[in-house]
Amino acid sequence: MKKHNFSAGPAILPATVLKEAGKAAANYHGMGLSLLELSHRGPEFMAILEEANALMREIIGLPDHYHVLWMSGGASSQFFMAPMNLLNEDETALYVDTGVWADKAIEEAKAFGNVQVLASSKAENYTHIPKDFKIPKTAKYLHLTSNNTIYGTQMRKFPKSPVPLVCDMSSDFLSRPFQADQFGLIYAGAQKNLGPAGTTVVIVREDMLGTVHRHLPSMLDYRVFAKNDSMYNTPPVFPIYVSMLTLRWIKKSGGLKAMQRKNKAKALLLYDEIDRNPLFRGTVAAEDRSHMNICFVMNEQYASLEKEFSALCIGNGMSGLKGHRSVGGFRASTYNALPQKSVQALVELMRDFAEKKG
Ligand code: PMP
Repeated sequence: MKKHNFSAGPAILPATVLKEAGKAAANYHGMGLSLLELSHRGPEFMAILEEANALMREIIGLPDHYHVLWMSGGASSQFFMAPMNLLNEDETALYVDTGVWADKAIEEAKAFGNVQVLASSKAENYTHIPKDFKIPKTAKYLHLTSNNTIYGTQMRKFPKSPVPLVCDMSSDFLSRPFQADQFGLIYAGAQKNLGPAGTTVVIVREDMLGTVHRHLPSMLDYRVFAKNDSMYNTPPVFPIYVSMLTLRWIKKSGGLKAMQRKNKAKALLLYDEIDRNPLFRGTVAAEDRSHMNICFVMNEQYASLEKEFSALCIGNGMSGLKGHRSVGGFRASTYNALPQKSVQALVELMRDFAEKKG
């Protein structure tokens, strides 16, 4: 039985992408060789990288003065690489603390300069996105997390900022259009909307680079990746290939506007059921609800039914629905590649369960 994959990441990829990736792993374009065993300097991979870069630029609408870098080390490495490359010891970086990942980014940045937490919803267990903050003009940058994977909150819009925005877009990258020139730097681990774990995309504006005085090891210097077109060393060949296939799929499916429309429809379908169903409730402020990671719990009087509902989901081919341990309950991740019918199946299960138990 084909599963409904609600995993938060590594997450569902389009079926056509997986099929093509499987073929490439076995025998790339009929060459009698796997893509996994071809040189990264050969014409095959060079063509893949070129297409991945071109598609990324086209799909986002990226201006020429931005670099696209394919790195490794996960988004977590960007928590220290961004301040290492952008922030001098006597300068201040601003952070908005909207979840565990933002918190980790804050902790890592402290090693490189002054860190000011401009706003935080930590005291309310990150159930909303703080919005009323004034951005000091003197800071080097403002770091945001566009979507909080664990809590299920998402920034609907980004603040107008007098200082460059640096944004962790790991869990909603390419799920909706965004204005790239609002940002100085964007980073995202591939393993949600883009491809397999193993590569991290960094998009950086040229003038953000070269302003720090410290020595940067080559492999931790954005300029080295920009100058060498992500080929200073052996890049994560296969994750970049699969990401390129996903970018082709996004383009063919109508681009970021189409992704946004479909993601919104899936999210509203599930949130409507959560709000309507007497057994369940959402866990975050309605206005900040994520269209990628949808968190919900059972109402107190039905809490004892959680295990039974969980087992029912598993029995019906639904995978990855368990909420993060810090929130509990359920989390349905509805990334680009998740079909509407998977959300529909979950909604029907919730409805049937309530009819039996309510
Ligand atoms: N930021 C966000 C928003 C995430 O969701 C995650 C992982 N789920 C990370 C950072 C860390 O990413 P990685 O595991 O690639 O280091």
